[in-house]
Amino acid sequence: MSKNLKQIWANCLEVIRDNVPLQAYKTWFEPIKPVRLKNNVLTIQVPSQFFYEWLEENYVTLLKKIIRKEIGPDARLEYSIVMENNGAKSSNPYTVKMPTTNKKAIKNPSVSAPLDINVNPIKNPFIIPGLRKINIDSNLNPNYSFDNFIEGDCNRLARSAGYAVAEKPGGTAFNPLLIYGSVGFGKTHLSHAIGISIKNRFPGKTVLYVSSEKFTQQYIEAVKTNNINDFVHFYQMVDVLIVDDIQFLSGKEKTQEAFFHIFNHLHQLGKQIILTSDKAPIELQGMEQRLLSRFKWGLSADLQAPDLKTRIAILNQKMYADGIELPKEVVEYLAYSISTNIRELEGALISLIAQSSLNKKSITLDLAKQMIDKFVKNTAREVSIEYIQKVVCDYFDLPIELMKSKTRKREVVQARQIAMYFSKKMTKSSLANIGKHCGGKDHATVLHACRTVNNLSETDKKFKTYLDDLDKKLSIQ
Ligand code: ADP
Ligand code: MG
Repeated sequence: MSKNLKQIWANCLEVIRDNVPLQAYKTWFEPIKPVRLKNNVLTIQVPSQFFYEWLEENYVTLLKKIIRKEIGPDARLEYSIVMENNGAKSSNPYTVKMPTTNKKAIKNPSVSAPLDINVNPIKNPFIIPGLRKINIDSNLNPNYSFDNFIEGDCNRLARSAGYAVAEKPGGTAFNPLLIYGSVGFGKTHLSHAIGISIKNRFPGKTVLYVSSEKFTQQYIEAVKTNNINDFVHFYQMVDVLIVDDIQFLSGKEKTQEAFFHIFNHLHQLGKQIILTSDKAPIELQGMEQRLLSRFKWGLSADLQAPDLKTRIAILNQKMYADGIELPKEVVEYLAYSISTNIRELEGALISLIAQSSLNKKSITLDLAKQMIDKFVKNTAREVSIEYIQKVVCDYFDLPIELMKSKTRKREVVQARQIAMYFSKKMTKSSLANIGKHCGGKDHATVLHACRTVNNLSETDKKFKTYLDDLDKKLSIQ
């Protein structure tokens, strides 16, 4: 190495060290080796494709400035990517020439390291080591398709984004597609549905679903057996990568780093990445900033708590698929009572069916109530305003729309007041919220309703029986 080159690079490093955080300096600049300086072109050697992409993306302005200052206004930078495999230098270094002024030229995917699996077989972490053939099983569950993913207000955006991705994997702005939502809201189902649909449309594409737990286990195994390169390369070969529950990677720095390499590589090649998380990207703690910033490149679409209509539709579909019929009131009761988790909703349905066949009882509303109460006791169940309204309306034989309307008809007013009273008693809703649901009233009206009901129950015997009946119907026991 000529003295001149060594000295120039040393000068560059000195300026860089003053301009970037120490950690970044160590990660991104210390490993660089200056290799040549010829005709004002400085060639530096970097250890991977992704390393060079990272430099270009984050430090190109700084590098440009420094190099011009050191070498002169015509100075240019050239990268030489040399992958070091198990300590031995690859015999075929990929040299990427690029004028630092023309960023477009860099985006040529042909500069990426070829992954010729015949020349250099890569271990598939999903199969038993030793098997030569790389046969990627997608790990997709055929039951989780778009066909049985019920559409509702709660999932419309995520579902249609998923659909768009399935039609054109890697070809939409939704890359990555990050689906987030609470437990049991359908993240796993939707991500499988996208994968299945891509497989159906493009049988030649390699789709791979993996949970973050599995990914982490495989990574740890790869570290143990000194196969990290294979691990990373394996994932870099797929066309569509689905990683479920990425919140699980929180705090796992090394695994995140491996994922980061994979992510960059796939994204660079226009491969589709689909991620799910139980938190919005902004709430993902313990996740590296550089990963988080990548998640924001595409679209984050949330799944919300399923609304009543969707819950009933999901139950009906499930029953249809299993060839079961239940009385409408039982289905409604289930859907009304379990509002926060579709998995629990399905679980309750299954238990109910199991109960009735074991005990040879037909499924009545009473049986459903007993069962649900046992089933959801531990999940801090709360009777909903909607449910109270329904029970009260059924009791007085009124259409529920009337209760929600502004009508001041006497019998409706009374039923509405009773619904308000029970809503206050049995839910954690605010007075304002109760009012909103019951004919768009304000909190003072709800308070007044509660007082009126209390007064009447003390003075009017008949009214008191209504209340007691309703209380029984509504209460859990
Ligand atoms: P998550 O991954 O968000 O915890 P899952 O995808 O495992 O949730 O969904 C839980 C259950 O609810 C699954 O059995 C799934 O099939 C069902 N499910 C969720 N959303 C829907 C939907 N929109 N239509 C039909 N079934 C759904
Ligand atoms: Mg899931």
